[in-house]
Amino acid sequence: MKEQIYTIPVNEAFDAKDECPLCFLRRKAEQDMLDLALGSSASYMEPNVREQTDALGFCREHFQKMYTYGNSLGNAWILKTYLKNIQTKMHKQIQSYKPGAKAKKPLFGAAASESSNPMKAWTDAFAKECFICKHQEEAYERYLDTVFYLWKSEPDFVKKFKESKGFCIPHFGDLCEKASQVLPPKEQEEFFQVLFPMMEENLDRIYEDVSWLIEKYDYRNKDADWKNSRDAVPRAMQKVKGGYPADAPYQMKK
Ligand SMILES: [Zn+2]
Ligand SMILES: [Zn+2]
Repeated sequence: MKEQIYTIPVNEAFDAKDECPLCFLRRKAEQDMLDLALGSSASYMEPNVREQTDALGFCREHFQKMYTYGNSLGNAWILKTYLKNIQTKMHKQIQSYKPGAKAKKPLFGAAASESSNPMKAWTDAFAKECFICKHQEEAYERYLDTVFYLWKSEPDFVKKFKESKGFCIPHFGDLCEKASQVLPPKEQEEFFQVLFPMMEENLDRIYEDVSWLIEKYDYRNKDADWKNSRDAVPRAMQKVKGGYPADAPYQMKK
């Protein structure tokens, strides 16, 4: 079963017992891609990797993360051939631009841009292209499949799932959607009977942590125990929208 190679990271994500194992897996997928794109193995010098980064480039968010990752020389190599590629693409757009002409809408799939101006339609689509986003998305999909593979086949994992702290709201949505695609109706019922109370209980828990943080600032509570409220702010932010607000930039291993 091809999912089996993903069971180790999925188990690690649930063992981490943070606010969302799926955030944990998305972060891992992103960090793996930063290592691949820029890491000490210098895979950015390999023609097949550079072909992909030249074609897809990077989004604004990932340029930011590549900058803080370190490795100026690696970034410069990637940028050099990527810029060459952009020069060609932009030249083509400029050559074919006719004032007043309308952008062609794609025949199927979601339109990349709402604009009827062809240059704006091109720049909108261009802004969304990203080598890291693309591969992170693919890895995340496989991790999600693996969660359900383990749910169906490993009683130990089901136990781990039930003992987790739930998920952030966006990833809760991903789980519900995937469950409706891969589980038969009867099994969906069992899954949601676990997931829904878990989500509500853990949102209540976060609410209590945030409330106690505020109480702790009252001078009458200055000697009281912090309980679980010390890091309640970043955990609550994660629970609501996902991600790790308190994370330091992920940097190249020296
Ligand atoms: Zn999450
Ligand atoms: Zn990106």
